[in-house]
Amino acid sequence: MTVLVTGGAGYIGSHMVLELLEAGEKVVVLDNLSTGRRSAVPNEAELVVGDFGDQPLVSGLIARNKIEAIIHFAAKIVVPESVVDPLGYYLNNTASARALLDCAVKHKVKHFIFSSTAAVYGEPEKNPVSEDESLKPVSPYGRSKLMVEWMLQDTAFAHDLRYVVLRYFNVAGADPKGRTGQSFPNATHLIKVAVQTALGMRPGMEVFGTDYPTPDGSCLRDYIQVTDLARAHMAALNHLRDGGENLTCNCGYERGYSVLEVLETVKRVTGVDFDVKISGRRPGDPAAIVAANQRAREILGWEPVHDDLDEIVRQAYEWEKKLLAEKTAG
Ligand code: UDP
Repeated sequence: MTVLVTGGAGYIGSHMVLELLEAGEKVVVLDNLSTGRRSAVPNEAELVVGDFGDQPLVSGLIARNKIEAIIHFAAKIVVPESVVDPLGYYLNNTASARALLDCAVKHKVKHFIFSSTAAVYGEPEKNPVSEDESLKPVSPYGRSKLMVEWMLQDTAFAHDLRYVVLRYFNVAGADPKGRTGQSFPNATHLIKVAVQTALGMRPGMEVFGTDYPTPDGSCLRDYIQVTDLARAHMAALNHLRDGGENLTCNCGYERGYSVLEVLETVKRVTGVDFDVKISGRRPGDPAAIVAANQRAREILGWEPVHDDLDEIVRQAYEWEKKLLAEKTAG
């Protein structure tokens, strides 16, 4: 019995692979290395380089490896990019996911865990937002993921496949042992950009909007540490293997930090003061979004262990220093 991890050479996927291997699972990674890197996949896992929407490739590898569960991370994930390239997002995140699901059904894969996103809620009417709130994504990214949630519901109804959808809030930090982290050089996510700025890799950075209806005017987000998130997937896999129901679950800490609070934390933890320019709003950004996480705690038995913004920032900083040292060396 083997677990297929799409996007396993990427940021969250590579943390997942480490968790699975530590639990003694057999792992096959499928990744096209567009943003992931080969060195993020340990030798104990098999790496297949290719697209998850490539049905002949995926069918062959599911059959060959007797895949029991698919954990599907591979996706395009940048909200503003989805605004300028919606069809690219619908092709990769939605149409290719349909192709993957089709292979899963044809080969009778039992379990499917899907990386969804808080962006499916759009601008929630209240925070913390629970899984039953209305789904009104405001970006092509959010819509591209919500469509896959719907496909999964319909597919599980029609076929013998069960699923867990995990809606990620803002994923940050790195492996506490320093083995992997967010490696894509042009990442746009706040904590990554801020630690790169602290390291002098960027001359300064921008805050996209301080005129939101939030306490300090900047956007509020719920930052979840990446190993805690990978542990939620392990809990989801165990839930499915134990015969648990199909489930949709938020992954966050039920606590929001503003962009300005995050930047203060980065400056304090790194001891570096850097230039921050206040700019206009970025398209597709909701003002505030914080997870209600009771369902993950109660049904999956998930308990966060890295719920600490200082620790998250320190991990991101240490990882970025390591990447920089690698770059300088070679
Ligand atoms: N943000 C910012 N400057 C940056 C990157 C992000 O002000 O250089 C803000 C962004 O507008 C949003 C928050 O930080 O309000 C989190 O954005 P990120 O891209 O990290 O994640 P998202 O919430 O879009 O998934």
